[in-house]
Amino acid sequence: MKILVVGSGAREHAITRTLATESTPHEVLVAPGNPGTAQVATNVAVDPLDPQAVTALAVERGVDLVVVGPEAPLVAGVADAVRAAGVPCFGPDAAAARLEGSKAFAKEVMAAAEVPTAMAYVCTSPEEVEEALDAFGAPYVVKDDGLAAGKGVVVTEDRDAALAHARACLARTATPGGERPAVVVEECLDGPEVSLFCVCDGTDAVPLAPAQDFKRLGDGDAGPNTGGMGAYSPLPWAPEGLVEEVMERVARPVVREMARRGTPFTGVLYVGLALTSRGLRVIEFNARFGDPETQVVLARLGSSLAQLLHAAATGSLAEAPRPTWRDAAAVTVVLASHGYPGTSRTGDVVEGVADAEELPGVHVLQAGSATAADGTLVSAGGRVLSVVGVGADQEEARARAYAGIDRISLAGSQHRTDIARVRS
Ligand code: AMP
Repeated sequence: MKILVVGSGAREHAITRTLATESTPHEVLVAPGNPGTAQVATNVAVDPLDPQAVTALAVERGVDLVVVGPEAPLVAGVADAVRAAGVPCFGPDAAAARLEGSKAFAKEVMAAAEVPTAMAYVCTSPEEVEEALDAFGAPYVVKDDGLAAGKGVVVTEDRDAALAHARACLARTATPGGERPAVVVEECLDGPEVSLFCVCDGTDAVPLAPAQDFKRLGDGDAGPNTGGMGAYSPLPWAPEGLVEEVMERVARPVVREMARRGTPFTGVLYVGLALTSRGLRVIEFNARFGDPETQVVLARLGSSLAQLLHAAATGSLAEAPRPTWRDAAAVTVVLASHGYPGTSRTGDVVEGVADAEELPGVHVLQAGSATAADGTLVSAGGRVLSVVGVGADQEEARARAYAGIDRISLAGSQHRTDIARVRS
């Protein structure tokens, strides 16, 4: 197959690497990609947010499948345009991507589909926010209604901080669709979090392996929320039957509800869950593979990713083979630049990637990196790369990922030291 991957992060590098190295290797183009994807595929300098440009590339090159990685191209309508041109596309239309693009919409769909989630109020004024904060009490959870790259959520004991975040979100200008800015205030959920990717073809859904990510910047979950600082899979502590319960109570009802609304969902329904003392609750949906969970989930995939995504894109999941999993654990640790998640410093030299990849069970996935004029690798964004360790069990995978991190140098860089630390 000839496959076009849209995006430039470590998630897209993971997808590209998996597709390009399957037992039947595929020809992979990446728009625009990064220095890491260039090593296993062909980067094409096309704007991933431009539906016409991506579609033209797919048609000109005669690709069999387009896989859209990040959320922004989905919301911009890239999948709609590609599908309209008759090219199979893995990724939801803009209307279905609203499951991620609007937390208020996601709440509405969950209510209609009777999916268990946190109780919430959608607020469009500071007065409504104050009422909602007081209704739930501390700790307070305030979420920007729109896309915020995983950074629009504040969970705090401090009522003033919660209100200040809400005011900042509400002060933004109306969305391109003319909707008023809104925030979602919701009850705080306790319990461990699990991410489950469900591959959907509009009518059917198939689960991948559960993973856990680490959203806070610092060890011990200190510091601000980020796009994600690390992840691991499998989850040895996950309750038996969890995946089937999520499919039964969350994924299939949501897929049915989206089809009923005339906006069928094709792509990854990423279910972010809290396993609370009162049972599972959905924290959020994303409409695409999660980053960094994809890095560990795909490291364990034993069957063909291309076949699975093509089946989903062509509405034929029911006839496709189920995914199989390697009997191995994977851990990924993100290396971020100085200043992340605030203003990230760029242009710092990254050294040691090839050294790290010489270690057994280690590979490096690039994200916010670039090749300077003299050929050196430099930082070019917040999360610069992810080091993935694969091993017989979580401890071995973790040791390998950190051995890889130790071989890489980047001035002022940040990473967590407690990713996938085995609980004692
Ligand atoms: P989201 O962007 O909705 O995934 O939120 C980012 C992170 O904020 C989640 O991974 C949780 O750690 C935290 N969070 C979101 N909603 C809640 C909630 N209702 N209760 C507790 N923590 C939450």
